[in-house]
Amino acid sequence: MALKIVDTCISCGACEPECPNEAISAGDMTYVIDTEKCTECYGIYGESQCTGTCPTESIVPDEDNAETTEQLLAKFNRLHPGQAPANTDSWTKPQ
Ligand code: SF4
Ligand code: SF4
Repeated sequence: MALKIVDTCISCGACEPECPNEAISAGDMTYVIDTEKCTECYGIYGESQCTGTCPTESIVPDEDNAETTEQLLAKFNRLHPGQAPANTDSWTKPQ
């Protein structure tokens, strides 16, 4: 599933440059994650890159956008055409 940013976000911006899919941007009140671009880092890294950067633990799984690894792979392929997926064997779902 895509991750989401909750209202404890202090808009520090630390997470934005960590995303390989450019899914994170500044919103009106908090930073936001584009559901259409977040693959939970599947296809690129073995684990989510943004969650560990957040000083307020504001990046959490979006239970309303649950996705299978097949769906995440399809999203990765759409975002990165022609690029081979990496680290899928070692990928750990964000908690
Ligand atoms: S989990 Fe990965 S793809 Fe999703 S917003 Fe965070 S850094 Fe970007
Ligand atoms: S790292 Fe956390 S507090 Fe900083 S902008 Fe991202 S979600 Fe908000």
